[in-house]
Amino acid sequence: MRVSVVLLTSDLRLHDHPPLCAALETADAVVPLFVMDRAVEAAGFAVPNRRAFLADCLADLDAALRQRGGRLVMRSGDLVEEVCRTVAQANADEVHMSAGYSLFAARREDRLRRALEAVGRRLFVHDTVTVAVPPGTVTPASSDHFAVFTPYYRRWAQHPLRPLAAAPRRIRVPNHVGGEPLPARSDVTGVSPGLPAGGETEGRKRVATYWRRGLDAYEDTRDDLAADSTSRLSCHLHFGTLSPVELLHRARRRGGPGADAFVRQLAWRDFHHQVLAARPEAAHADYRTRNDHWRTEHTARADIEAWRQGRTGYPVIDAAMRQLRYEGWMPNRARLLTASFLTKTLYVDWRIGAAHFLHWLVDGDVADNQLNWQWVAGTGTDTRPNRVLNPVAQAKRYDPDGGYVRRWVPELAGLAAPALHEPWKLPAPDRAALDYPDPVIALPDGLDRFRRARDRDH
Ligand SMILES: Cc1cc2nc3c(=O)[nH]c(=O)nc-3n(C[C@H](O)[C@H](O)[C@H](O)COP(=O)(O)OP(=O)(O)OC[C@H]3O[C@@H](n4cnc5c(N)ncnc54)[C@H](O)[C@@H]3O)c2cc1C
Repeated sequence: MRVSVVLLTSDLRLHDHPPLCAALETADAVVPLFVMDRAVEAAGFAVPNRRAFLADCLADLDAALRQRGGRLVMRSGDLVEEVCRTVAQANADEVHMSAGYSLFAARREDRLRRALEAVGRRLFVHDTVTVAVPPGTVTPASSDHFAVFTPYYRRWAQHPLRPLAAAPRRIRVPNHVGGEPLPARSDVTGVSPGLPAGGETEGRKRVATYWRRGLDAYEDTRDDLAADSTSRLSCHLHFGTLSPVELLHRARRRGGPGADAFVRQLAWRDFHHQVLAARPEAAHADYRTRNDHWRTEHTARADIEAWRQGRTGYPVIDAAMRQLRYEGWMPNRARLLTASFLTKTLYVDWRIGAAHFLHWLVDGDVADNQLNWQWVAGTGTDTRPNRVLNPVAQAKRYDPDGGYVRRWVPELAGLAAPALHEPWKLPAPDRAALDYPDPVIALPDGLDRFRRARDRDH
């Protein structure tokens, strides 16, 4: 009997899964394997929100495999050792997995390939599983990656998508290959109370609902903070419970301004992945240095803590930071505002903000998080690196009725817009009646400091 192992990583689904399809084409039986990788824990990446979501994903995948006659095999420890042990137990010939694009993923793949080759087994890595257009597929004439989104997008949009891979109907897993019990969401502590449920079934339901009720209006409503009208599919894309290729096929088939704008956002995802693949150090170091001398944990401790706790005195910033803790998620407009506030108004190192986001975000992703932070901080790919978002003007524009602030900052729930966006301007007795902090800094002071800092070394 010919057996293949399918190593699952950020692709926890059965629909449109090229590694699984490739394994099933050549093998009589497959071992769908997930390894709870010790190195991910050691890197501090296994935070409560993502561990809880992952537990849902694994349970859902196991159930889907069982419906098809198989099951998920889970192990924990060193990923390379566990894959090799599984290969030996199953007497498998091949291992199939999807490509990852961080330095961590590249090193892991390299170690695994060498370990498998040493025992005469082959590793097949499939590259259109977690992204639609893999890094290196479209490149400018003079570089290994695009550093600016618009020209990237033009080329990306012309690149043909591979056809979809059908979900398997039957899967045979060899009986003698055992695993460990799956983790349970209920065992994870410190999880955000409003964290969504994970798993492919949930992801597919969410797509169906969004396609019915949200997508067509996406272009007009996506920045409306109170409307909560974006897809909220980022967590499913991060864990691979949804396929970006499938979403793109479906959005293109649908057409229209909403679907087109959605496609463009998915291109941003691929864009950041191709930057990270070409410049892995951009996860930690400035992609384009502006010679910043950022404020740090030591020099800006109180400001950073106020930002983290949602107590900066700027209602829209505080609303967003509290949503992050409560749901493990924030809409893109809120991420832009809070990141601009930290890096520009407070002039704090973008890495401090990125680490806080990575701690809470259920979709927390090295490529998307670090490179978006760099984009906002002006050390990344933004062609206007010194722009500063004014949180009051932005709040009036994107939360005109104040519904978003009232939802997350109950201290201000009795106020009407636009006054609730500037509570420090209320008449003294009304202001005194609020249990809400004064602004950590006046906006003109923040702007001055930032401009001086950026001009200093230029
Ligand atoms: C400072 C900052 C940090 C971020 N960190 C992350 C992160 O860790 N993980 C993450 O997935 N996204 C991140 N984003 C991008 C974006 O904010 C989220 O993808 C989006 O808010 C998720 O909500 P949604 O699924 O409703 O998005 P929608 O608006 O419905 O967009 C559809 C999909 O397009 C992709 N997308 C949208 N905007 C972007 C973008 N700017 N960059 C990359 N992909 C995008 C996402 O996969 C998203 O699910 C960050 C943005 C900023 C400004």
